[in-house]
Amino acid sequence: MRVIRAKNKCEWCAAINGKPHPLTGSIVVLTTAHVYDDRPEASSLLNLAALCQKCHNGHDAHDRIRRRRERLHKESGQIDLLL
Ligand SMILES: [Zn+2]
Repeated sequence: MRVIRAKNKCEWCAAINGKPHPLTGSIVVLTTAHVYDDRPEASSLLNLAALCQKCHNGHDAHDRIRRRRERLHKESGQIDLLL
């Protein structure tokens, strides 16, 4: 996937694999991210993207914040009236 579809570039910001990132200056290492569904078995090509560290970390940070919010809400014992 990384070579054919992504053409060895980050699919979100086009940073080139193995070259310095234009914003961070760190060497880009493309990794495969689960974009919409983070379950390991959700490995459809529509759910996967080759991303640089900056884009992958940014994507994962949103997920971490969402999961933390859900956990804190669950731990608070509050009843969710908007189900
Ligand atoms: Zn990127």
